[in-house]
Amino acid sequence: MIVMTPQAGESEIQAVVARLETTGVHVVVMPGELTTAIGAIGDPEGVADLGLEGLPGVDRVVPISRPYKLASSELSHHEPSSFDIGGRTVGGGATFCLIAGPCTVESADQTLAVARAVAAAGASMLRGGAFKPRTSPFAFKGLGVPALEILAQAREETGLPIVTELLDAQHADAIAQYADVVQIGARNMQNYALLEVAGRLGKPVLLKRGLSSSLDELLQAADYVLKEGNEAVILCERGIRTFETATRFTLDLGAIPWLKLHTHLPVIVDPSHAAGDRRLVGPLSRAAAAVGADGLIVEVHEDPEHALCDGPQALQASHFAAFAAEVAAHARLVGMQLA
Ligand code: PEP
Ligand code: MN
Repeated sequence: MIVMTPQAGESEIQAVVARLETTGVHVVVMPGELTTAIGAIGDPEGVADLGLEGLPGVDRVVPISRPYKLASSELSHHEPSSFDIGGRTVGGGATFCLIAGPCTVESADQTLAVARAVAAAGASMLRGGAFKPRTSPFAFKGLGVPALEILAQAREETGLPIVTELLDAQHADAIAQYADVVQIGARNMQNYALLEVAGRLGKPVLLKRGLSSSLDELLQAADYVLKEGNEAVILCERGIRTFETATRFTLDLGAIPWLKLHTHLPVIVDPSHAAGDRRLVGPLSRAAAAVGADGLIVEVHEDPEHALCDGPQALQASHFAAFAAEVAAHARLVGMQLA
């Protein structure tokens, strides 16, 4: 939209129209009481390159179209995207995907015990960190490749596809070899080089919202993955920084219906990292289903008190079946079945 100054005359308006028409956009002149606005409908980049701000009589150029292109529901898809991950459908509105598992793979025994518990309760996929982003460089950073092998063993036994984080491009080959879904953590949402690497691995990408990132920024980050030709991107709301410190992060539930309006990509919720407290995970999970999420990713541990990472927010593995049944019941209320 090009807004003219109140003093702009007809010849100046026509000069802008003529210049716009050279790019092939559809031009609509909208005379107002004080000023005239000129709408340019079509390729916004072509218009941005015209340098219209410098023309006589032009006050300002206001982009109306959204900055994210591939993730936007305005473009191409219209229909919500859905994809198959090891026989589980993610997105599309009919299935609710329940990803569960330990924060971090600590040992084969620990991971297999949790994997069996969540598989028996109807989880769709197994999560588990092999390479962990930790706030302190002195905290446990994960077992690395041996953890990926343990996850593969758990997949072999339970049939659950594996979700694990790609922390650093140097681990890309190892992650691609083992993971069914490549997670990009909140702290790396704006690591654009890593997003491009993840986009090229040929695996679905689970993209978590940055701790202080807007939804516009989340969708532009998704565009980095999508532009590599990877259409399988799952967005994840995991809580953001606000003035409130009672919960670990503030779960932005409004993000889910907003994203549903503005993107075709599936959106899941991580109530564990948002809450930082297992007592809140059930209520937040019910809320996520109610506001239209396509699924959840939750942390579960056999012995949370001794977990090496994020114990206070981990659901007890022995309580997981009851939790999953409650989630499934809430998903059914909005017409979804567990994937
Ligand atoms: C995680 O899922 O274990 C994790 C580190 O999450 P986030 O990137 O959302 O903090
Ligand atoms: Mn965690």
